[in-house]
Amino acid sequence: MALIQAQHLHLAYDRREIVRDLTLTLPEGRITIIVGANGSGKSTLLRGMSRLLAPRSGSVLLDGQDLHSLRGKELARRLGLLPQSPVAPDGVTVRELVTRGRFPHQGLFPQWSAEDERAVAEALAATRTDDLQDRLLEELSGGQRQRVWIAMALAQQTEVLLLDEPTTYLDVTHQLEVLDVVRDLNLTRGTTVGIVLHDLHLAARYADHLVAVRGGEIHSQGTPHEVITEQMAHEVFALDARIAPDPVTGTPMVLPLGRDRTATPHRQEDPVSATTARTTTAQTTTAQTAAAEAAEAVPALEHSSMLAFDLAVVARRPLGPSLVRFTLAGPDLAHFGTGSHPLDLRVKLIIPGPHRSADHFAPVRPGGMLDPVTQADWYRTWLQIDPSDRGWMRTYTVREQRAAGHPGNVSDHPEIDLDMVLHLDPVEVPGQGVAARWARDAQVGDAVTLLGPNRHLVGPEYGGIEFRPGTARTVLLVGDETAVPAVGSILEALPDSVSGHALLEVPHAEDEQTLLTRSGVQVTWLPREGRAHGELLDAEVRRVMGENAQAFRDAAVECPPAALRRELEDVDVDEAILWETTTGRGAFYAWLAGEAGVIKTLRRHLVSELGIDRKQVSFMGYWRAGRPEH
Ligand SMILES: Cc1cc2nc3c(=O)[nH]c(=O)nc-3n(C[C@H](O)[C@H](O)[C@H](O)COP(=O)(O)OP(=O)(O)OC[C@H]3O[C@@H](n4cnc5c(N)ncnc54)[C@H](O)[C@@H]3O)c2cc1C
Repeated sequence: MALIQAQHLHLAYDRREIVRDLTLTLPEGRITIIVGANGSGKSTLLRGMSRLLAPRSGSVLLDGQDLHSLRGKELARRLGLLPQSPVAPDGVTVRELVTRGRFPHQGLFPQWSAEDERAVAEALAATRTDDLQDRLLEELSGGQRQRVWIAMALAQQTEVLLLDEPTTYLDVTHQLEVLDVVRDLNLTRGTTVGIVLHDLHLAARYADHLVAVRGGEIHSQGTPHEVITEQMAHEVFALDARIAPDPVTGTPMVLPLGRDRTATPHRQEDPVSATTARTTTAQTTTAQTAAAEAAEAVPALEHSSMLAFDLAVVARRPLGPSLVRFTLAGPDLAHFGTGSHPLDLRVKLIIPGPHRSADHFAPVRPGGMLDPVTQADWYRTWLQIDPSDRGWMRTYTVREQRAAGHPGNVSDHPEIDLDMVLHLDPVEVPGQGVAARWARDAQVGDAVTLLGPNRHLVGPEYGGIEFRPGTARTVLLVGDETAVPAVGSILEALPDSVSGHALLEVPHAEDEQTLLTRSGVQVTWLPREGRAHGELLDAEVRRVMGENAQAFRDAAVECPPAALRRELEDVDVDEAILWETTTGRGAFYAWLAGEAGVIKTLRRHLVSELGIDRKQVSFMGYWRAGRPEH
C-alpha cells in the first residue's frame, strides 16, 4: 500500500489557475473518488497528482517522496495513471497493449520474465479480457476496451492507480463492470485508488473516501454519508436534490428535484359513493400505519454495522495436520467487508446448537427488518438464550476475500476463506471446542452463519482490523497457529518498503505454509513438535530483538523512563480480554497475537525489558488456555 498526498498544490494552464492551494491525502489502500461539476478542476487535480502537469507551486508526495524527484521508470513502477480517453496505436492487439504495462519493470536490456508473464496473465484474468487477448483493440466495444486499458494498468502492478473518468461513454452495465474490477483490485491487492467520476450515484457506491471539488478547491471530503448532502449537491453541482438511501447498497443516492418537484396528486375520492369513501379512508389509515411501521423498521442493511450472512461451504482443504481452509460463499457476501484489504479482519462463526428453536439472526440478515432498539439489544438478547438453542459464537480471521467473478472463486458468488485450527481434545466436553469439532466434520454443501461487517456502514477503522502500523517501516509480526491466517493476509498487503520479521509457531513442521509478500519481511516458522506452547516463540523473539536491538531502538520513538514504563504497562489491559491495539507512532511496530498468556509475556519483554513504547506494540489474546470463548 502507498500513500499519495498533494500539499498546497497550485495547478495552472498558462496563466489560468485551475487548482488553488489544495491539500489532499488519498488514504492508503482505499478507493478515493473525486467528484465535481464540469470545469471544477477535478481532472486537472488528477493530472497534477500523476506528474502529467507540473505544479506551479506546492508538491505531490508518494510515501513522503516528492513525485518530481523520482525517475520516470521508478514512478511508473509505483504509480499508474489511466487518462481520460486513452489512445492506442492502430493494429495493436489486446495482449500487446496489456504487455506494455510491464515496460517500467524491464531493465536496460529487456527480457521477458516468468514474472512479467504472470503479471500479464493475472491482469487479463482479473479484468476478464483473457479470451479477447488476440483481438484487435479497435474491434472491441467501449466497455471491453476500457477493461483492456485497466488490464494494462494492472499489469504495471503499481501501489497507486489513478483513473480519470474511466466510465465515460459506457452504458450502465459496463460502468458497473469497470468499477467492480477496480474494487476487486483494491480489495485483493490493497492498491490505493484515486478516481475522477462525474456520476455521484456511482461515486457514493464505490468510494471509501469521497472528495467534492468546487472552483479548484476542496468543498468537502469524508465517507459518502458525510459528503453527500443536499447542501453539497446545491453548492457543488447547483442541483436541488433530495438524498435517500440506495435501496441496493444503502449508500446515499442523490435524487434531483428538477421541475416536477412533487409526486402526482392522488385521484380524488368518488364523491357519490359513501361506501367507497369509507373504504378509502380505512385503507388510507391502514396505509399510514404501515408506513409509520416501515419508518421504524428498516432493512438491516441500513442500520446494523454487523450483519449475519447465510453462507455455504463450497470448498474444504487441509493446509497441514492442524489447519483446514474453508471457502464460504453466498450472494449476501456482496454486503460484507470494510471496503479495504481484510488484513486481520475478524468475523464470528456461529456453530449451531443441537436444539435450535428459531432463527435467532433474522433481524440482522441483510434483508431483515430492524428497528434501532432491536439492533442495540440484539446481542444481549441472543446471549440470554440457552447455548444449545442459540449456538456458539467463535472468532476467526478472514484469510482472503474475493468478489463474485474473481478468477480464484469456485462458486458464482463472492467468497471468503477461513483457516481453522483443529485443536481436538480427546475428551469431548459439551459446549467446548465446538468450532474445532465443526471444522473437523463440516463438508462441502453445509450451511453456516457468519457475523461480519456491513460494508455499507463500516470502513477500515472497524474494530476488526487491528493491524495499524502507521508510518512504521520495520515490523515484528508474532503469532501462534491461530494467528497464521491474519499474518498471511497482512503480509500480502505489505508494500516492499516494509521489512522486519514474522515469527510463527505451529504444532508441526507440516503446518508450514508458503506465504506471499512483496515486503522485505522475513518469515520464520517454529514447529513446536510437542514442546510447551509459546516456548519457541519466546526464545525467537528474544533472539531477533537481541540481534537487531540497535536497529529496533533507532526505529522506536523516544522511550518513557523505566519507572513510568512499568506503571504504564498494564494500564487499560482488561484481564478478561487481554487486548490492546494502537496505531504505530514510530518507524517500528510490533503486532502479537495468539494464546493470551504467551502473548502477554512477549509484550512484557518488548515493553518492560527492551523499553519499546507500548504505543508501538499491539497485542491480542486470541484464545486463553483452559478457557472456552463463551
Ligand atoms: C481476533 C481473533 C481472530 C482469530 N482468528 C482465528 C483463525 O483465523 N483461526 C483459528 O483457528 N483461530 C482463530 N482465533 C482463535 C479461536 O477463536 C479460538 O481458538 C476459539 O476458542 C476456538 O473455539 P473452539 O470452540 O474450538 O474452542 P473453545 O470452546 O473456545 O475452547 C475450548 C478449549 O480449547 C482451548 N483452545 C481454544 N483454542 C485453542 C487452540 N487454538 N489450540 C489449543 N487449545 C485451544 C481453550 O483454552 C479451551 O480450553 C481467533 C481469535 C480471535 C480473538
